[in-house]
Amino acid sequence: MTTLHDKFGRRIEYVRLSVTDQCDLRCVYCMPMGFHDFEEPEHWLSFEEIERVMRAFGALGVHRLRVTGGEPLVRRNLPELVSRLSGLPGIDDISLSTNATRLRKHAHELREAGVARINVSLDSLRPEVFKAITHGKLEKVLDGLMAAKEVGFAPIKINMVVMKGVNEGEVEDMVRFCLEHGFTLRFIETMPMGDTGRDAVDHYVDLRDVRARLESRFELLPGVMPGGGPARYMKVAGTDLNIGFITPISQHFCETCNRVRLSVDGTIYTCLGQEHNLPLRPLLRAGCRDEELTRAILEAIDLKPERHEFREKPEKILRFMSMTGG
Ligand code: SAM
Ligand code: SF4
Repeated sequence: MTTLHDKFGRRIEYVRLSVTDQCDLRCVYCMPMGFHDFEEPEHWLSFEEIERVMRAFGALGVHRLRVTGGEPLVRRNLPELVSRLSGLPGIDDISLSTNATRLRKHAHELREAGVARINVSLDSLRPEVFKAITHGKLEKVLDGLMAAKEVGFAPIKINMVVMKGVNEGEVEDMVRFCLEHGFTLRFIETMPMGDTGRDAVDHYVDLRDVRARLESRFELLPGVMPGGGPARYMKVAGTDLNIGFITPISQHFCETCNRVRLSVDGTIYTCLGQEHNLPLRPLLRAGCRDEELTRAILEAIDLKPERHEFREKPEKILRFMSMTGG
């Protein structure tokens, strides 16, 4: 079996594929209000181009793919893209990150097309707090989540960005909600991505404190979840609930990083917190041969830096999360 390694010996087996930089929500830590500076659709990779790039990644040993954005469900005909990708040699795991606003409509098709697992962003269970964070309607998201449950995605993971003075007080409620519905729960620290992310860092919460707080209310045992992501898991004793802590700031996990990102305009970003990137679109549009595409991917992997510097240089990343593919 072919495997892909970077110059620090990390195996790269996972691509996060952004299919749009647009979104129907405006989360405070992610996308600025009034932000309309989207890439023109002609700069977006077409489904054919995405398929070609992912075929090349698959041949190099990447086997996991997460479809993300922006909000991936705002890209037209997304289930068609997923079914094309799920047929590619080597790709054996396709997952989706979504805000769930459009999931009621698309859950079934996506499941049929080959999405096995989904992650849903849900920062609050209180309609007014949810609205203040995302400018969207909680009710729609909860309905989308229930649709996901009905069609049988497994696992369904809830991602909650914990913010001081905003939703920090809801962590226990979210634990109960996930217990009730059989979801996995992951807490995330705010990252200084773009101006929005930097402003949100004023609300930064060290998840070690959240964990300590939960430990005083629930018995937490060491847990594991398949998936190879950065979360450190704990299991609530006597239940099936796994709680993950994603701590890019307080305890970075760069030494086990196994991924790169492909943005909607066809650029490979090798680290969320660094600029090292390689644009594939010019090559693709110039009619490159398959060998040239493969060489470019290998060059990109070689650029992958050892670690991010969110803590040391929070001013560094001008891209919003939705541009790189969160
Ligand atoms: N729209 C989809 C969603 O919200 O799940 C997928 C894309 S979104 C950019 C992916 C994840 O990035 C979400 O869980 C979101 O909470 C997270 N995110 C965005 N900006 C962030 C920031 N500055 N710090 C931490 N997490 C962030
Ligand atoms: Fe949209 Fe997801 Fe960013 Fe929120 S986090 S604005 S839902 S892309």
